[in-house]
Amino acid sequence: MISKNEARKILDYDIVDILDLLKKINIQRSSHEITYSKNVFLPLTHICQNNCGYCTFKQTPEDASYILMNEDETKNLLTQAQKYNCTEALYTFGENADTNNYVKAKLDEYGYETMVDYLYHLCEVTLNKYNILPHTNMGIIDYDDLYKLSQVNASMGLMLETTNRKLLKTIVHKDSPGKDPKKRLNYIENAGKLNIPFTTGLLLGIGESKDDHIDSLFEIRKLQDKYGHIQEIILQNFKPKKGIAMEDHPEPEIVDLIKIVIVAKLLFNDVSIQIPPNLNRQLLPIFITTGADDVGGISPVTEDFVNPDAPWPEINEIQKQVESLNYTLKERLPVYDKYIDRKYLSKKVYDKALKLQKKI
Ligand code: SF4
Repeated sequence: MISKNEARKILDYDIVDILDLLKKINIQRSSHEITYSKNVFLPLTHICQNNCGYCTFKQTPEDASYILMNEDETKNLLTQAQKYNCTEALYTFGENADTNNYVKAKLDEYGYETMVDYLYHLCEVTLNKYNILPHTNMGIIDYDDLYKLSQVNASMGLMLETTNRKLLKTIVHKDSPGKDPKKRLNYIENAGKLNIPFTTGLLLGIGESKDDHIDSLFEIRKLQDKYGHIQEIILQNFKPKKGIAMEDHPEPEIVDLIKIVIVAKLLFNDVSIQIPPNLNRQLLPIFITTGADDVGGISPVTEDFVNPDAPWPEINEIQKQVESLNYTLKERLPVYDKYIDRKYLSKKVYDKALKLQKKI
């Protein structure tokens, strides 16, 4: 493990120092496996209480193509996913959507009071009828709701994004109360108290500083030291897109991304570092060499609704890139192997995870 000072210094290294460090990292590396999961993306609603400056996912009730996916639509996607042997149902959607009257009316029509109640039911259906495990990221919910969903999920997630609170006053997060870093760290801590295998991460290049990168990683490290529930850290680079509020905001420099991946791996030898391959198609081999060891969920069924301009690369294409570096691409479940344990999973989820672990 490196200290905060050492980590911060690496972010200012020049390229020669970086290459030297890389050699050491790759000698230390215990596994030459790069993992991924096969998922289906289930964006139950695009309605969200927040308005992030980089968002391409949120829709207003007036322009939304749908308000709330119904059970049949969800099952249709799950059925397709099963045909492709997907093992992860990724339930990701807008935060506090049920405070919106249109969503409330739909929930009422379907016979549910809250998004958590509806989602709980859909996760149960997923577990009971499909060889697929739910993974939920629905923004911040309270402790009791988190406990309830932990009983029907194999893992859950929430990006920390950054610990920089100043962004709450800028175009990035000024209309996004759910993006308050204190609330997000508290949520990740609650997941730790409940032993939920957890995915978090940083959004890079939205106006934060190098010091913020280090602070953010060290805050996650503190929670991991206390609870041990963090299974992966996503390092997601901001990409400007037409029509978003931050359309003209520059992308982060590649060399800075490389350094952050290195620091993250040095700091988290016990956690997978994930780079989304659809945002980094050509650069994936570089990020693997610098410490990334997971490429996240890849969907043969649905597009990445959060980054619709970035199609998922075929699994075969990633496999070629990975093998060219003498690494092996290995499928995993949404819950990492070391968390397939009754300490972390309800009986129902544990039994299914064990069964699926033998199949992949
Ligand atoms: S929380 Fe997510 S869906 Fe909501 S506005 Fe922000 S990026 Fe978009």
